[in-house]
Amino acid sequence: MVNYRYLGNSGLKISEITYGNWLTHGSQVENDVAAQCVRAALDAGITTFDTADVYANTAAEQVLGDALKGQRRESLEIFTKVYWPTGPKGPNDTGLSRKHVMESINGSLQRLGTDYVDLYQAHRYDVETPLEETMQAFADIVRQGKALYIGVSEWTADQIRAGAELAKDLGFQLISSQPQYSMLWRVIEDEVVPTSRELGLSQIVWSPMAQGVLSGKYVPGKELPAGSRATDAKGGAQMIERFMRDEVLERVQRLKPVADELDLSMAQLAVAWVLQNDNVAAALVGASRPEQVAENVKASGVTIPAELLATIDDVLGDVVER
Ligand code: NDP
Repeated sequence: MVNYRYLGNSGLKISEITYGNWLTHGSQVENDVAAQCVRAALDAGITTFDTADVYANTAAEQVLGDALKGQRRESLEIFTKVYWPTGPKGPNDTGLSRKHVMESINGSLQRLGTDYVDLYQAHRYDVETPLEETMQAFADIVRQGKALYIGVSEWTADQIRAGAELAKDLGFQLISSQPQYSMLWRVIEDEVVPTSRELGLSQIVWSPMAQGVLSGKYVPGKELPAGSRATDAKGGAQMIERFMRDEVLERVQRLKPVADELDLSMAQLAVAWVLQNDNVAAALVGASRPEQVAENVKASGVTIPAELLATIDDVLGDVVER
């Protein structure tokens, strides 16, 4: 079963393996398979679910809400996000203006079938809206009880600091940052992580498996596995493209002995690796089938010894984005 960690300086505990439904629910996978994945997550002890209004143009929130119907609300942590337009592109359908934030939360709650989300996240930083306006809107949403906590996604260290200071003045706290982080993508380590530590935020990291690449299933020179993201013409293939270079895939194959030494699959090694960072509260893992959820959750509680962490660094070398 999965372990739980506190999110930032808050009292909120979340499952360190969190289930995310980008590119899958409402898109790559049929709704019955999506429901099976959610069932597998619940069975494995996952209580935290992450989505966004923009995923599959709102369909992902709807599919997740339907799959969670009948579950005890108090036993779940449901996270969603605001920023991008989800349908008609009117002048105010993008960004973090008070208007877009206040309108978006209502649509998300309706689709998720809940009166509140546990975490409402700014999906990106909005350079056009005054940060004070955005933070005031978030403060009001918290006061209205529509979101219990507030987080951000892909903000720089300076943006996090400015947001955290304003939040504090307004009587609430930013408790999380949601960046991309994996063995192949380590750009948060120099600034975002130290700043977050100082200010009491945790990371909830996306694509910990580099979208499936770190599972080792993409072998250079071999056919792409049927049904995998790299073959998903609905958008997945385009998103994963950045990692689908022979140089990267060859290095990833060389991680197999490390996984073997720990008696883990390569997918489990990838998820366990991000959880070695104590500023990471959760690995946000996606799945296109329930067996993947059952496999990935076993990464919870794994310790990777320092010498194997060093071996991973040596093997991946300069293909890592830092
Ligand atoms: P991962 O790196 O975990 O990739 C998940 C994909 O890898 C699955 O859909 C599946 O794809 C494949 N996979 C999963 N487990 C296994 C396994 N055991 N063996 C082989 N293949 C496996 O993360 P995602 O890229 O899906 O992102 C996770 C979540 O992060 C999202 O759902 C979303 O909640 C969040 N996110 C946030 C973003 C942001 O801007 N804040 C941006 C992107 C994601 P397949 O079977 O199709 O190959």
